[in-house]
Amino acid sequence: MKYFPQECILTLEELNKLCEEWKSVLGLENWNTSIKICRDDDMEGGAGHCHWVLPIQCADIKILDHVDWYKIIDHFPQDMEKTIVHELLHCRFAVIDKAEDGTLEELILHQNIDMLACALVGIKREANGNAFEKGKGEENNFKKFLRNG
Ligand SMILES: [Zn+2]
Repeated sequence: MKYFPQECILTLEELNKLCEEWKSVLGLENWNTSIKICRDDDMEGGAGHCHWVLPIQCADIKILDHVDWYKIIDHFPQDMEKTIVHELLHCRFAVIDKAEDGTLEELILHQNIDMLACALVGIKREANGNAFEKGKGEENNFKKFLRNG
């Protein structure tokens, strides 16, 4: 299994649907999440951002508007599903995330979260015959895969 970034540009409605799917995979069903697609000047840099409040299990997730993608990142396509999984994993790890902004600890946590997000999305796509197309994701194989461990 290998993850390759593939262009995955989604509407807000599609993002919300995928978010619910991944919340259940990651055991975050009790979290209240809201997603916004934001222009670059409303982001803190990067493909996505997650502001979480652990005691009330609440997270505001921002996803970079595709309009601005190639202004920021020019060496691989935008994969909004991978970004959603990455931001949700920040909620998963919030309980141990004591890293201050801009520190090495924060960078390492972020890199590990990204590695996990790539692995999870890669596994899902492989289970689906890597036939992901916008709006046509065949979810059954992935669900079977999760059930069978
Ligand atoms: Zn991150």
